Amino acid sequence: MQRGRRKPDWLKSRPPSGSRFTEIKSTLRDRDLHTVCEEANCPNMGECWSGEDGPGTATFMLMGDRCSRGCNFCDVETGGMEPLDPDEPANVADAVAEIGLDYVVLTSVDRDDLADGGSAHFAETIRAIKRRDPEIIVETLIPDFQGDPEAIDRIVDAEPDVIAHNVETVERLQWPVRDRRANYEQSLAVFDRVDRESDIHTKTSLMLGVGEYDHEVYRTLGDLREVGVDVVTFGQYLQPSRSHLDVFEYVHPDVFKTWRRVAEEEFDFLYCASGAMVRSSYKAGELFVEALLREGRSPEDARRHARAAGGD
Ligand code: SF4
Repeated sequence: MQRGRRKPDWLKSRPPSGSRFTEIKSTLRDRDLHTVCEEANCPNMGECWSGEDGPGTATFMLMGDRCSRGCNFCDVETGGMEPLDPDEPANVADAVAEIGLDYVVLTSVDRDDLADGGSAHFAETIRAIKRRDPEIIVETLIPDFQGDPEAIDRIVDAEPDVIAHNVETVERLQWPVRDRRANYEQSLAVFDRVDRESDIHTKTSLMLGVGEYDHEVYRTLGDLREVGVDVVTFGQYLQPSRSHLDVFEYVHPDVFKTWRRVAEEEFDFLYCASGAMVRSSYKAGELFVEALLREGRSPEDARRHARAAGGD
């Protein structure tokens, strides 16, 4: 454990560079598309966009770059949301084809200002990608839509391959980590709804280093399994700016390994990606999901395959 501000050595990432990075950036700008990679200043962009081991990956952020909420750990701008761009679903599908992605992660800002929370727009983007190529794996990282079951059903009906939603931290720390409109029970209810309505794999992410206790993380894993969550990731919280939540501690890599073992061996999660640099969509199980869904491997075999291929 390491308190205070100096980042430990294990938190190193390389800056984005190279022709592939520039290509992806221009494709996105040409179509006025946003990525959470850029909006949240993700430390892994350099690696993800380089595409050294494959077409690369990018997480498209739908419905603009301004969120209706203001979580204290997040670098995305709050307020001043623009009307939805009706061309965005088709533009995302075009960009996916142009970049040559075979695994796409779609996320969005929260749009509590819209009657359906933007769920119809989100669902149409899934459909637009699948219409272009049904073989593309689409992982969605959705908002809680304020717990609206119809909004969640719209996403389920669009049949993405994975539905993720981030519970972010343990129940006691929901506030001040997350916006007050988010809460633990509401996030668990998202998974419960997907689990009741479909066989779609579900996934969530927890940040470590915001002040959680081990027994709280343990309990959270139990609660997540109760609502059918299959995949969980653990990553280190990193402070985007001094005006954001302080880092309580830099969690040692051995602790991340322990949580991976606990999640898979004690709670039977199908897969757990756990490491300081792991983010919702960075090395966060894609290799496992591909092995499971595209290659039809058993969960155990898919896990072995993902680990052998460098998955955290
Ligand atoms: S809901 Fe919170 S975490 Fe998500 S984009 Fe908005 S401010 Fe960031």
